[in-house]
Amino acid sequence: MKIIIAALVFILSINLAVAQTDTAIAKTGDPIEMLFPQGKTKALILSYDDGRTEDRQLVKLMNKYGLIGTFHLNSNKLGTSGYVNKAEIKQLYTGHEVSVHSANHPNLTTLSKIDIVYEVVEDRKELERLIGYPVRGMAYPFGNNNAFVIDAIKGLGIEYARTVDDSYGFKIPENFLQWHPTVHQFAKAYWKPNDPENDKKELDRYYQLINDFINTKDLVLLDIWGHSWEMGNNQNHWDETEKFFKLLANNSAIHYTTQIDLVDYINAFRNLKFSVEKNMVNNPSALTVFFKKGGKTYSVLPGKTIFLSN
Ligand SMILES: [Zn+2]
Repeated sequence: MKIIIAALVFILSINLAVAQTDTAIAKTGDPIEMLFPQGKTKALILSYDDGRTEDRQLVKLMNKYGLIGTFHLNSNKLGTSGYVNKAEIKQLYTGHEVSVHSANHPNLTTLSKIDIVYEVVEDRKELERLIGYPVRGMAYPFGNNNAFVIDAIKGLGIEYARTVDDSYGFKIPENFLQWHPTVHQFAKAYWKPNDPENDKKELDRYYQLINDFINTKDLVLLDIWGHSWEMGNNQNHWDETEKFFKLLANNSAIHYTTQIDLVDYINAFRNLKFSVEKNMVNNPSALTVFFKKGGKTYSVLPGKTIFLSN
Protein backbone atom coordinates (compact mmCIF):
# COMPACT_ATOMS: atom_id res chain seq x y z
CA MET A 1 0.00 0.00 0.00
CA LYS A 2 2.79 2.40 0.96
CA ILE A 3 4.45 1.71 -2.35
CA ILE A 4 1.23 2.47 -4.26
CA ILE A 5 0.74 5.79 -2.42
CA ALA A 6 4.37 6.73 -3.01
CA ALA A 7 3.93 5.96 -6.69
CA LEU A 8 0.75 8.08 -6.87
CA VAL A 9 2.48 11.02 -5.16
CA PHE A 10 5.35 10.68 -7.60
CA ILE A 11 3.02 10.68 -10.64
CA LEU A 12 1.06 13.68 -9.28
CA SER A 13 4.25 15.65 -8.68
CA ILE A 14 5.34 15.04 -12.28
CA ASN A 15 1.97 16.31 -13.56
CA LEU A 16 2.22 19.40 -11.36
CA ALA A 17 5.69 20.11 -12.66
CA VAL A 18 4.37 19.92 -16.23
CA ALA A 19 1.41 22.18 -15.46
CA GLN A 20 3.62 24.83 -13.86
CA THR A 21 5.19 26.17 -17.06
CA ASP A 22 6.23 29.80 -17.10
CA THR A 23 3.37 31.56 -18.92
CA ALA A 24 5.65 34.45 -19.95
CA ILE A 25 7.97 32.01 -21.70
CA ALA A 26 5.02 30.19 -23.24
CA LYS A 27 3.80 33.51 -24.69
CA THR A 28 7.15 34.50 -26.17
CA GLY A 29 6.93 31.10 -27.86
CA ASP A 30 4.00 32.43 -29.97
CA PRO A 31 5.20 32.29 -33.56
CA ILE A 32 5.52 35.44 -35.67
CA GLU A 33 3.54 34.84 -38.86
CA MET A 34 4.00 36.96 -41.97
CA LEU A 35 0.96 38.62 -43.50
CA PHE A 36 0.94 40.21 -46.95
CA PRO A 37 0.72 44.03 -47.30
CA GLN A 38 -2.33 45.62 -45.62
CA GLY A 39 -2.50 42.51 -43.43
CA LYS A 40 -3.93 40.41 -46.27
CA THR A 41 -3.63 36.62 -46.32
CA LYS A 42 -3.73 36.09 -50.09
CA ALA A 43 -1.30 37.20 -52.80
CA LEU A 44 -1.62 36.78 -56.56
CA ILE A 45 1.18 36.70 -59.15
CA LEU A 46 0.40 36.50 -62.88
CA SER A 47 3.54 35.79 -64.86
CA TYR A 48 3.81 35.68 -68.68
CA ASP A 49 6.81 34.82 -70.82
CA ASP A 50 8.28 35.72 -74.23
CA GLY A 51 6.84 39.21 -74.97
CA ARG A 52 4.91 38.25 -78.08
CA THR A 53 2.56 40.77 -79.72
CA GLU A 54 -0.46 39.13 -78.03
CA ASP A 55 0.86 40.72 -74.81
CA ARG A 56 -0.83 43.93 -76.03
CA GLN A 57 -4.27 42.33 -75.77
CA LEU A 58 -3.35 40.57 -72.51
CA VAL A 59 -2.11 43.73 -70.77
CA LYS A 60 -5.26 45.55 -71.88
CA LEU A 61 -7.40 42.81 -70.31
CA MET A 62 -5.34 42.86 -67.10
CA ASN A 63 -5.63 46.62 -66.86
CA LYS A 64 -9.40 46.39 -67.37
CA TYR A 65 -9.64 44.17 -64.26
CA GLY A 66 -6.97 45.96 -62.20
CA LEU A 67 -4.68 42.93 -62.31
CA ILE A 68 -0.89 43.14 -62.15
CA GLY A 69 1.47 41.08 -64.30
CA THR A 70 5.12 40.13 -64.48
CA PHE A 71 6.45 39.90 -68.04
CA HIS A 72 9.63 37.96 -68.82
CA LEU A 73 11.21 39.27 -72.05
CA ASN A 74 13.98 38.28 -74.46
CA SER A 75 15.60 41.60 -75.40
CA ASN A 76 17.26 40.29 -78.55
CA LYS A 77 13.88 39.16 -79.93
CA LEU A 78 12.08 42.45 -79.32
CA GLY A 79 11.05 44.06 -82.60
CA THR A 80 11.44 40.88 -84.63
CA SER A 81 8.41 39.22 -86.25
CA GLY A 82 5.72 38.34 -83.70
CA TYR A 83 7.35 40.16 -80.78
CA VAL A 84 6.56 43.51 -79.16
CA ASN A 85 8.82 46.44 -80.09
CA LYS A 86 11.60 47.93 -78.03
CA ALA A 87 10.06 51.38 -78.27
CA GLU A 88 6.69 50.30 -76.86
CA ILE A 89 7.61 48.22 -73.82
CA LYS A 90 8.04 51.07 -71.34
CA GLN A 91 4.53 52.31 -72.06
CA LEU A 92 2.94 48.88 -72.58
CA TYR A 93 4.11 47.35 -69.29
CA THR A 94 3.57 50.44 -67.10
CA GLY A 95 2.27 49.28 -63.72
CA HIS A 96 3.55 45.75 -64.40
CA GLU A 97 7.00 44.21 -64.02
CA VAL A 98 9.48 43.63 -66.84
CA SER A 99 11.88 40.83 -66.09
CA VAL A 100 14.66 38.72 -67.63
CA HIS A 101 13.97 35.69 -69.85
CA SER A 102 17.52 35.66 -71.33
CA ALA A 103 18.63 37.64 -74.40
CA ASN A 104 18.03 34.89 -76.97
CA HIS A 105 15.87 32.22 -75.27
CA PRO A 106 18.37 29.32 -75.39
CA ASN A 107 18.19 26.22 -73.19
CA LEU A 108 20.53 27.48 -70.47
CA THR A 109 21.35 23.95 -69.27
CA THR A 110 23.27 23.30 -72.51
CA LEU A 111 25.47 26.40 -72.22
CA SER A 112 28.86 27.07 -70.66
CA LYS A 113 29.00 29.39 -67.67
CA ILE A 114 30.23 32.39 -69.69
CA ASP A 115 27.31 32.02 -72.11
CA ILE A 116 24.76 31.75 -69.28
CA VAL A 117 26.23 34.91 -67.73
CA TYR A 118 26.08 36.67 -71.11
CA GLU A 119 22.43 35.68 -71.75
CA VAL A 120 21.30 36.97 -68.35
CA VAL A 121 23.43 40.10 -68.02
CA GLU A 122 22.87 41.19 -71.63
CA ASP A 123 19.09 40.83 -71.21
CA ARG A 124 19.14 42.71 -67.88
CA LYS A 125 21.22 45.53 -69.33
CA GLU A 126 19.10 46.05 -72.45
CA LEU A 127 15.76 45.78 -70.61
CA GLU A 128 16.97 48.27 -68.01
CA ARG A 129 18.00 50.68 -70.77
CA LEU A 130 14.51 50.39 -72.30
CA ILE A 131 12.33 50.62 -69.22
CA GLY A 132 14.43 52.72 -66.84
CA TYR A 133 14.59 50.71 -63.62
CA PRO A 134 16.78 47.90 -62.26
CA VAL A 135 15.57 44.52 -63.54
CA ARG A 136 15.99 41.92 -60.81
CA GLY A 137 13.73 38.97 -61.71
CA MET A 138 13.85 36.15 -64.22
CA ALA A 139 12.05 33.18 -65.71
CA TYR A 140 14.19 30.34 -67.13
CA PRO A 141 13.71 29.89 -70.91
CA PHE A 142 11.64 26.67 -71.33
CA GLY A 143 11.79 26.54 -67.51
CA ASN A 144 15.09 24.68 -67.87
CA ASN A 145 17.48 24.93 -64.95
CA ASN A 146 19.88 22.85 -62.90
CA ALA A 147 22.43 23.38 -60.13
CA PHE A 148 25.04 24.58 -62.64
CA VAL A 149 22.72 27.23 -64.13
CA ILE A 150 21.54 28.40 -60.70
CA ASP A 151 25.13 28.71 -59.53
CA ALA A 152 26.02 30.70 -62.68
CA ILE A 153 23.26 33.30 -62.15
CA LYS A 154 24.18 33.96 -58.52
CA GLY A 155 25.93 37.31 -58.33
CA LEU A 156 24.25 38.64 -61.51
CA GLY A 157 21.67 40.69 -59.60
CA ILE A 158 18.85 38.19 -60.16
CA GLU A 159 16.74 37.83 -56.99
CA TYR A 160 14.24 35.24 -58.15
CA ALA A 161 14.02 32.86 -61.11
CA ARG A 162 10.75 31.12 -62.01
CA THR A 163 10.56 27.57 -63.33
CA VAL A 164 7.63 25.88 -65.10
CA ASP A 165 7.34 23.05 -62.55
CA ASP A 166 3.80 23.49 -61.24
CA SER A 167 3.51 22.90 -57.50
CA TYR A 168 -0.32 22.93 -57.41
CA GLY A 169 0.22 24.47 -53.97
CA PHE A 170 0.09 27.90 -52.36
CA LYS A 171 3.32 28.00 -50.35
CA ILE A 172 6.03 30.64 -50.72
CA PRO A 173 8.93 28.86 -52.47
CA GLU A 174 11.93 28.03 -50.31
CA ASN A 175 14.53 28.71 -52.98
CA PHE A 176 13.82 31.97 -54.83
CA LEU A 177 16.24 30.97 -57.64
CA GLN A 178 14.13 27.88 -58.25
CA TRP A 179 10.72 29.47 -57.86
CA HIS A 180 8.10 26.87 -58.74
CA PRO A 181 4.78 28.49 -59.71
CA THR A 182 1.38 27.16 -58.59
CA VAL A 183 -0.02 26.29 -61.98
CA HIS A 184 0.06 26.98 -65.69
CA GLN A 185 -2.98 29.00 -66.77
CA PHE A 186 -5.83 26.57 -67.54
CA ALA A 187 -3.59 23.81 -66.03
CA LYS A 188 -2.88 21.41 -68.94
CA ALA A 189 -6.04 22.17 -70.92
CA TYR A 190 -5.50 22.87 -74.66
CA TRP A 191 -2.04 21.23 -74.58
CA LYS A 192 -3.20 18.60 -77.04
CA PRO A 193 -5.32 19.58 -80.04
CA ASN A 194 -8.89 18.23 -80.23
CA ASP A 195 -9.01 16.58 -76.84
CA PRO A 196 -12.13 18.13 -75.26
CA GLU A 197 -12.30 15.47 -72.56
CA ASN A 198 -8.81 16.35 -71.31
CA ASP A 199 -9.55 20.09 -71.66
CA LYS A 200 -12.62 19.75 -69.43
CA LYS A 201 -10.79 17.69 -66.82
CA GLU A 202 -7.86 20.15 -66.69
CA LEU A 203 -10.11 23.24 -66.59
CA ASP A 204 -12.09 21.70 -63.70
CA ARG A 205 -8.82 21.13 -61.89
CA TYR A 206 -7.72 24.70 -62.63
CA TYR A 207 -10.90 26.35 -61.35
CA GLN A 208 -10.94 24.08 -58.30
CA LEU A 209 -7.47 25.42 -57.43
CA ILE A 210 -8.64 29.03 -57.85
CA ASN A 211 -11.68 28.36 -55.64
CA ASP A 212 -9.47 26.73 -52.99
CA PHE A 213 -7.26 29.85 -53.06
CA ILE A 214 -10.26 32.16 -52.68
CA ASN A 215 -11.93 30.14 -49.91
CA THR A 216 -9.06 29.10 -47.61
CA LYS A 217 -8.29 30.95 -44.38
CA ASP A 218 -4.55 30.13 -44.60
CA LEU A 219 -1.76 32.41 -45.85
CA VAL A 220 -1.66 31.59 -49.55
CA LEU A 221 0.19 32.62 -52.71
CA LEU A 222 -1.38 31.83 -56.09
CA ASP A 223 1.23 32.05 -58.85
CA ILE A 224 -0.14 31.51 -62.35
CA TRP A 225 2.14 31.48 -65.42
CA GLY A 226 1.65 31.23 -69.16
CA HIS A 227 2.13 32.92 -72.55
CA SER A 228 -0.15 35.35 -74.35
CA TRP A 229 0.64 33.53 -77.62
CA GLU A 230 -1.16 30.47 -76.22
CA MET A 231 -4.39 32.44 -76.65
CA GLY A 232 -3.21 33.59 -80.10
CA ASN A 233 -6.31 34.42 -82.11
CA ASN A 234 -8.51 31.81 -80.44
CA GLN A 235 -11.45 33.74 -78.99
CA ASN A 236 -12.44 30.82 -76.72
CA HIS A 237 -9.06 30.98 -75.01
CA TRP A 238 -9.33 34.74 -74.58
CA ASP A 239 -12.83 34.27 -73.13
CA GLU A 240 -11.43 31.66 -70.74
CA THR A 241 -8.71 34.15 -69.73
CA GLU A 242 -11.28 36.84 -69.06
CA LYS A 243 -13.33 34.33 -67.03
CA PHE A 244 -10.51 33.56 -64.58
CA PHE A 245 -9.42 37.21 -64.45
CA LYS A 246 -12.99 38.10 -63.38
CA LEU A 247 -12.90 35.39 -60.70
CA LEU A 248 -9.71 36.81 -59.21
CA ALA A 249 -10.28 40.56 -59.71
CA ASN A 250 -11.61 43.12 -57.21
CA ASN A 251 -11.20 40.89 -54.16
CA SER A 252 -10.26 42.92 -51.09
CA ALA A 253 -8.68 39.82 -49.48
CA ILE A 254 -6.11 39.54 -52.30
CA HIS A 255 -2.84 41.46 -52.55
CA TYR A 256 -2.18 41.99 -56.28
CA THR A 257 1.54 42.20 -56.93
CA THR A 258 4.44 41.86 -59.31
CA GLN A 259 6.77 39.04 -58.43
CA ILE A 260 9.71 41.32 -57.54
CA ASP A 261 7.54 43.45 -55.22
CA LEU A 262 6.51 40.31 -53.38
CA VAL A 263 10.15 39.20 -53.12
CA ASP A 264 11.06 42.61 -51.68
CA TYR A 265 8.19 42.36 -49.20
CA ILE A 266 9.12 38.84 -48.03
CA ASN A 267 12.74 39.97 -47.62
CA ALA A 268 11.58 42.99 -45.59
CA PHE A 269 9.57 40.68 -43.30
CA ARG A 270 12.52 38.33 -42.90
CA ASN A 271 14.75 41.27 -42.03
CA LEU A 272 12.57 42.54 -39.12
CA LYS A 273 14.61 42.84 -35.93
CA PHE A 274 12.84 41.32 -32.92
CA SER A 275 13.94 41.57 -29.30
CA VAL A 276 14.56 38.27 -27.50
CA GLU A 277 11.23 38.56 -25.68
CA LYS A 278 9.47 39.44 -28.94
CA ASN A 279 7.98 42.50 -27.22
CA MET A 280 9.79 44.94 -29.55
CA VAL A 281 10.42 44.93 -33.28
CA ASN A 282 12.31 47.26 -35.58
CA ASN A 283 11.71 47.49 -39.33
CA PRO A 284 14.89 48.70 -41.08
CA SER A 285 13.34 48.36 -44.56
CA ALA A 286 11.55 50.95 -46.71
CA LEU A 287 8.28 48.95 -46.68
CA THR A 288 5.46 48.76 -44.13
CA VAL A 289 5.49 45.16 -42.90
CA PHE A 290 2.50 43.23 -41.48
CA PHE A 291 2.57 40.15 -39.28
CA LYS A 292 0.53 38.27 -36.73
CA LYS A 293 1.53 37.24 -33.22
CA GLY A 294 -0.76 35.57 -30.71
CA GLY A 295 -3.81 36.15 -32.91
CA LYS A 296 -3.13 39.89 -33.16
CA THR A 297 -2.18 41.74 -36.37
CA TYR A 298 0.65 44.28 -36.27
CA SER A 299 2.12 46.66 -38.83
CA VAL A 300 5.52 48.32 -38.59
CA LEU A 301 6.23 51.42 -40.64
CA PRO A 302 9.57 51.80 -42.45
CA GLY A 303 12.41 52.61 -40.05
CA LYS A 304 10.17 52.38 -36.96
CA THR A 305 10.27 50.34 -33.74
CA ILE A 306 7.01 49.22 -32.13
CA PHE A 307 6.11 47.40 -28.91
CA LEU A 308 4.13 44.18 -28.94
CA SER A 309 1.76 43.04 -26.22
CA ASN A 310 2.25 39.63 -24.62
ZN1 LIG B 1 9.89 31.40 -73.03
